[in-house]
Amino acid sequence: MFEHITANELAGYGVGALLLCATISAPKIDSLISASQRSSLGMCKRCGDLRLIACSGCKGSGLVKEGGLFRFNPVDDLYRSFGDDANMMSFSCTKCRGRGHFNCPECSKLSHG
Ligand SMILES: [Zn+2]
Ligand SMILES: [Zn+2]
Repeated sequence: MFEHITANELAGYGVGALLLCATISAPKIDSLISASQRSSLGMCKRCGDLRLIACSGCKGSGLVKEGGLFRFNPVDDLYRSFGDDANMMSFSCTKCRGRGHFNCPECSKLSHG
């Protein structure tokens, strides 16, 4: 049953196995794959049906830490809070208003859930 398999095909299987390993070990490739898997599964490509997207400004924490620089923004001043670090101050993220995430624009377009 192996008589039709050429060396080229065998090499192809080898590369396939390598890709599989790379997929498991490399998070970048993994996220790429899962994004396409999500869309093929009918899940939201942007949020994976979480309906939330982490804020890039504060990396989902809702707080932006700043050291040394003072910003004289009255809105920031209202929300200013002292962090654990003596020289670091954390501000409520103005991009997401301290929530750390946004509603997914893709999902809010659809009226599901
Ligand atoms: Zn934010
Ligand atoms: Zn979404």
